[in-house]
Amino acid sequence: MSGIVFVVSGPGGVGKSTVVGELMKRDSALWLSRSWTTRERRPGEADDAYNFVSRDAFEAHIVAGGFLEWTTFLGNYYGTPLPTPTPGKDIVLEIEVDGASQVKQQHPSAVLIFVLPPSREEQRQRLTVRGDDERKVDERLRKAEEEEPVGIALADHVIINHTLDQTIADMLAIVAQARRAASI
Ligand code: 5GP
Repeated sequence: MSGIVFVVSGPGGVGKSTVVGELMKRDSALWLSRSWTTRERRPGEADDAYNFVSRDAFEAHIVAGGFLEWTTFLGNYYGTPLPTPTPGKDIVLEIEVDGASQVKQQHPSAVLIFVLPPSREEQRQRLTVRGDDERKVDERLRKAEEEEPVGIALADHVIINHTLDQTIADMLAIVAQARRAASI
């Protein structure tokens, strides 16, 4: 992998997908990896949000050495296939903290950005709007409590997602800074 690797992590409901989607629109020199998962597609979720696969297919891909990193998260597999970015582009991975830590071990120069919600209430609301039932929302909020200290300790940058505009501005500044450092 020749480009810079940017890893965006953060607990469920923090707005990562929206932030990353917007970042991709703003910077055409970024390439977004599409993860594999065994989770079911949510109602209304785009077909191409993930490569939705069976457990057998996922496990076969692990054995074949086809993942840069993979993990289990709330009972499902999630993994980043070995990236094949367009030459010259920098890579963006939107993954949870265990995966982020695996990427950092393999690529110490990877830039880890951890996004936090402004409050638990805001986070609960975002999770609920997305269509998860109450049990799943509670489960994800509990998981967030576990993930946050690990993510903060691991991260090169921590951003609180108060507003999309500010978060994108912060992200673009981080990307620009990393490109400057890489070109020295
Ligand atoms: P969700 O089910 O909400 O789409 O994703 C659950 C968590 O898995 C989120 O934190 C998301 O960022 C993370 N995730 C998505 N794709 C991957 C992946 O390829 N690897 C890892 N480690 N985590 C992922």
